[in-house]
Amino acid sequence: MKALRKTATAPGFTLAEIPVPEIRDNEVLIRVRRAGVCGTDVHIHDWDAWAQGRCHPPFTVGHEFAGDVAKVGSLVSDVTVGDRVTAEGHIVCGRCHLCRTGNSHICPNTKIIGVDRDGCFAEYIAMPATNVWHLADSVSYEVGGIHDPMGNAFHTALHGTNLPGKTVLITGCGPIGLFAVGICRAAGASRIVASDVNQTRLALARAMGAHDAVQPAAAEAAVRAATDGLGADVVLEMSGVPAAVHQALALVRVGGRVQVLGIPAKRMELDLATEIIFKGITIYGVVGRRMYETWIEMTQFLSSGQFDPRPVITHRFALERHAEAIAAIKSGEAGKVVFEIG
Ligand code: NAD
Ligand code: ZN
Repeated sequence: MKALRKTATAPGFTLAEIPVPEIRDNEVLIRVRRAGVCGTDVHIHDWDAWAQGRCHPPFTVGHEFAGDVAKVGSLVSDVTVGDRVTAEGHIVCGRCHLCRTGNSHICPNTKIIGVDRDGCFAEYIAMPATNVWHLADSVSYEVGGIHDPMGNAFHTALHGTNLPGKTVLITGCGPIGLFAVGICRAAGASRIVASDVNQTRLALARAMGAHDAVQPAAAEAAVRAATDGLGADVVLEMSGVPAAVHQALALVRVGGRVQVLGIPAKRMELDLATEIIFKGITIYGVVGRRMYETWIEMTQFLSSGQFDPRPVITHRFALERHAEAIAAIKSGEAGKVVFEIG
């Protein structure tokens, strides 16, 4: 089969011909139809410091996908050949303290497809059956293929935020921030202010339902105007840029809540006393998707028709055009980029 591989400890990917994966008794083989390309893939492509510390080539890249089931292992009872599916790409142990207390999204033994084991930029992928998520007939392979980043947005927007009627500031309108705009809208936030430095992405934020889509320098005025000067009830930090993290903490109201998803490239300093403690705010660190509350929420919002992620998808490429896909992400002019595989 065709597979996009990280073969060397150097920048780049290689499109290779490799055997279709063998499956274990508790696994299923999935024929990949669509796969989302993500910033993580760019880090692996560029072989940056994070990738060097984490990944062990050779392996197949990619962690966001949808397709149909081609084969099931002998112990698999609730997945059938021909089922249309996506999958949670974090494979957890199921045995540790976190897994056993309903917090498997922070299982310390997590293995991520396309990072720690073979991923989905290939014609087939082997997945544990427990990670498989069935798609409703109304959900396309393309939307199925972006459940991973959409799930990050659902987790960030909905966990502990109680959105109906709230004013929300979203700092960073990458694909995840853009999904979050639509989710907050569908969940009943009364005012959504989205900020980014990129005009293309601000236009997409408006298309997804942001009431205000503004440059970071204009975010304060928009939030103050919407809240009688009080500050946003909820801030979703989705850029990972230190200036935006400080702004998130400055523009959340006293007693408000900041959900931090964006990952700063290096250590950053905070004034704990003034930015957090004396404001009495709550900060929630987001890791992936809650298993499987986030997946249930995602499925229900999609089937309600109130949330439509499709405007975020702006670029589609065959696997052979992987260099263009990576370039589209790096340009900053793309929303979500998707590989069309089978
Ligand atoms: P992305 O990294 O492209 O999005 C970041 C956006 O922030 C860009 O559009 C950029 O123009 C914008 N930005 C830059 N400076 C800004 C500022 N000062 N104020 C507001 N916006 C600013 O795309 P993404 O894939 O949506 O990822 C968002 C972040 O989430 C990244 O940091 C990524 O590493 C992280 N992430 C975290 C998890 C997790 O589980 N915690 C999972 C996936 C991604
Ligand atoms: Zn575990």
